[in-house]
Amino acid sequence: MVTISEVKTGTGAKDARTAAHTHIKSLGLRPDGTAEHVASGFVGQTAAREACGLIVDLIKAKKMSGRAVLLAGAPGTGKTALALAVSQELGAKVPFRPIVGSEVYSAEVKKTEALMENFRRAIGLRVRETKEVFEGEVTELTPEETENPLGGYGKSISQVVIGLRSYKGTKRLRVDPSVYETLQKERVAVGDIIYIEANTGAVKRVGRSDQYATEFDLEAEEYVPLPKGEVHKKKEIVQDVTLHDLDVANARPQGGQDVISMMSQLTKPKKTEITDKLRAEINKVVQKYIDQGVAELVPGVLFIDEVHMLDIECFTYLNRALESAISPIVILASNRGVATIKGTEVRSAHGVPPDLLGRLLIVPTLPYGIEDVETIIRIRAKTEGLDVDEPTLKKFAEKGMATSLRHALQLLTPAAMLAKVKGRDNKVRLEDLEECEDLFVDFRKSRDIVESNKANYLE
Ligand code: ATP
Repeated sequence: MVTISEVKTGTGAKDARTAAHTHIKSLGLRPDGTAEHVASGFVGQTAAREACGLIVDLIKAKKMSGRAVLLAGAPGTGKTALALAVSQELGAKVPFRPIVGSEVYSAEVKKTEALMENFRRAIGLRVRETKEVFEGEVTELTPEETENPLGGYGKSISQVVIGLRSYKGTKRLRVDPSVYETLQKERVAVGDIIYIEANTGAVKRVGRSDQYATEFDLEAEEYVPLPKGEVHKKKEIVQDVTLHDLDVANARPQGGQDVISMMSQLTKPKKTEITDKLRAEINKVVQKYIDQGVAELVPGVLFIDEVHMLDIECFTYLNRALESAISPIVILASNRGVATIKGTEVRSAHGVPPDLLGRLLIVPTLPYGIEDVETIIRIRAKTEGLDVDEPTLKKFAEKGMATSLRHALQLLTPAAMLAKVKGRDNKVRLEDLEECEDLFVDFRKSRDIVESNKANYLE
């Protein structure tokens, strides 16, 4: 019997990295592929958005294999936002893995190994299972029914009874004592919508009754014994994981985190490292599940910012990885013109070797005008729950033009904090921004300060 439990790995870093882009919901394109000037959180950059829309079509038509995308443009022109939106257009659960080129260098892990890990973090696996479940809302039962003076669900002398209510009425289920223990452990309360798996007795809370309209169809007897009871409902359980999740789960089967049991069975329990051999084994099992129709691959987006930080070995690896049958969509980004390819003396466009350049669809991103900068800041302020008045917004936009959009957006948070200190809660006013300007400088200004005071700094 295949059982799958939820795996939660590596989401923290991703959350932090995508936090600045929560206002981006999609590319904001019309059905004919043209971009609305402002839509889905996106402002301007219409040609690049339309190009990305075409790329999404190519991906869906499976015409991107062996190829990659390069977004080329100045810092803060929305390259990360575009890559994120491409992944959103591909589907809600499509992995998005943003990294910066320099991240592959570490003392512990080989750079190609680090790249491989990120590739696998960007490849999803959707596992579908049909399970027999009992589903409904946990209801209040009388003390007599449960023989529990507190009511709710309870334990009688000989049996455990829980009340499950659907729109067709309430049923009392006699459940295995182990199920009762799980209910208690999971702190299942009256009003929770839960399902209990018929085969395993696993309990999953799916929501609260006030948030959930169950379509549960209860045709069965008043008392249904579990786990051998009648089937109330066949439920399709969809589980999204990444290949990296599977690597981790199998490398540390007893590592204290949730593992995917169907996958961890294939390795020896002592393994502690993710090795090529382990990955090969996992690929084999994944392929088996795909062939059986249980699982499907969900290639996501691997976004590599500052691609000129990769060296020639990484590029060789990239070239090969793009050829592989299971590859995510690789979106590179660069804000360099001509640069030396790291590890060589060769200079090339964006610091990318010519053989890889030949495989790239290159999309330029252009600097924003002040109106667009203002609109982006307005959207961002709203997303962060801030009330910024018009003169302050204008000033933020001017700041964005003079320094960078990123810098202006970054000032929103400290400005809001100053507003709070002054008892204005989330109302950000001109004086907050001005105070921030006195406190923080952008990188150009910081560089100039250091340059003009060279004598005071260490060489
Ligand atoms: P870098 O080259 O420095 O990595 P970037 O080109 O990737 O920069 P982003 O990080 O995407 O730029 O943009 C900076 C911020 O501005 C982000 O919060 C992003 O969501 C927002 N932003 C950029 N362009 C747009 C846009 N066209 N519409 C809405 N928000 C945008």
